[in-house]
Amino acid sequence: MAQEYDLVILGGGTGGYVAAIRAAQLGIKTAIVEKGKLGGTCLHKGCIPSKALLRSAEVFATAKHSDDFGVITGDVTLDFIKVQERKSKIIAQLHKGVQHLMNQGKIDVYEGLGRILGPSIFSPMPGTISVEMNNGTENEMLIPKNVIVATGSRPRTLPGLEIDGDLVITSDEALEIEALPSSIIIVGGGVIGIEWASMLSDFGVDVTVIEYAERIIPTEDHEISKEMQRLMKKKGIKIVTGAKVLPETLIKDNGVTISAEVKAGIKEFRADKLLVSVGRQANVEGIGLENTEIQVEKGYITVNGVFQTKESHIYAIGDVIGGLQLAHVASHEGIIAVEHIAGKEPSPLNYNLVSRCIYSNPEVSSVGITEEQAIEKGHKVKVGKFSFRAIGKALVFGESDGFVKIIADEETNDILGVHMIGPHVTDMISEAGLAMVLDATPWEIGHTIHPHPTLSEAIGEAALAVDGRAIHS
Ligand SMILES: Cc1cc2nc3c(=O)[nH]c(=O)nc-3n(C[C@H](O)[C@H](O)[C@H](O)COP(=O)(O)OP(=O)(O)OC[C@H]3O[C@@H](n4cnc5c(N)ncnc54)[C@H](O)[C@@H]3O)c2cc1C
Repeated sequence: MAQEYDLVILGGGTGGYVAAIRAAQLGIKTAIVEKGKLGGTCLHKGCIPSKALLRSAEVFATAKHSDDFGVITGDVTLDFIKVQERKSKIIAQLHKGVQHLMNQGKIDVYEGLGRILGPSIFSPMPGTISVEMNNGTENEMLIPKNVIVATGSRPRTLPGLEIDGDLVITSDEALEIEALPSSIIIVGGGVIGIEWASMLSDFGVDVTVIEYAERIIPTEDHEISKEMQRLMKKKGIKIVTGAKVLPETLIKDNGVTISAEVKAGIKEFRADKLLVSVGRQANVEGIGLENTEIQVEKGYITVNGVFQTKESHIYAIGDVIGGLQLAHVASHEGIIAVEHIAGKEPSPLNYNLVSRCIYSNPEVSSVGITEEQAIEKGHKVKVGKFSFRAIGKALVFGESDGFVKIIADEETNDILGVHMIGPHVTDMISEAGLAMVLDATPWEIGHTIHPHPTLSEAIGEAALAVDGRAIHS
């Protein structure tokens, strides 16, 4: 049977479900089509499960040196089944929450695989959605005035490096393992690779990271990258940079052996498992794009500033359009698309003001551009840096590695970028984000009174340091 809607959203991940909630708030009759589970990658295979495991790893690592705090425990052991159960419980609770929000907004949810149809008896324009229902009932036909494609992404692999789900895995399979391997090779030292490296190392796994670029987390500021490399090595993680993995050398027996081309020649690596973490690929196939004028460039759907595709009534948001593939970006893009559909004039998303976080131990967070990018753009920069070693609260926590770095323009005093590595910096970056949104200067941050003792004092001090006025350095 055909159902009419103002809006049908293809994909119920963070981008899709948040867009649906905003649409409901605006009185737009909305349906979501989701082939898996509401919440998508972020809730089931990304942000939440990985952070739940990271937290268990952190507690385990802290417990192992609890005597530093004067807390004497017996032997500290790990029950990995319990670790996984805790993760699943958190996901289930949040999943219920999303389902509740759909009910509350009177948003119809179709559980099945959606495809965009071309012009048909239902509509002269492409955009009718056919849903192959998961429960095997007859296909549903949805006739929307507008569509948002929010089909997300999946792990990418290297050509020739086949994922078998056991010895060679991606983050999808890694999240489901029932027992920890004793050693692992991680191909890719980007955000996801480094989170896994840190977590598995804290769990006691022998970790080797092989990265193609000259440094790990290569999109971050070079000083952050360097400090992260130092701290990962301090944990015992082996890091090989400037290394090209050779998939054809993979040998699988009761573990994996693989070679990589490094400066000195060919180097062989061996471990129980190999985790491939080389980026994400947009889900653009099998969703009926060929029935439309929608353009796909370099694997991503092309959109304008309000996320319209070449078919102006069909929008696309989130990982499927590429750029910063982050949950908070997907949801903001969804809100902008919906507000445009509702006839409002939403402010464009300034990607330079999006905070980016890495939840390793220690954490990394940043907003704005790096020092290298600032110089490349022709800015005359001044830099303020402040170490957590001089921050009382960091010493109290027993986590004083890392620093806050603020880059400003010498002539205009504009803040160009803020970069942090250290304890809880993912919870601190929003202050810097707000400062940049409000066009604050380092002077204004420095004169915001940061309570003592807090980790946020490092931001205040780094801001003062921009003009050589830090107090505790
Ligand atoms: C290990 C890992 C850790 C991450 N950690 C973070 C983090 O800490 N912070 C952060 O901001 N981001 C993180 N991300 C990225 C984040 O998960 C994504 O940016 C976010 O989920 C993108 O949302 P989305 O709505 O675009 O797509 P998705 O969340 O991928 O949702 C797309 C949905 O569409 C559905 N779908 C696809 N095709 C169809 C179809 N034809 N019909 C019906 N349904 C369909 C899928 O089943 C899926 O549920 C992480 C990702 C990974 C893999």
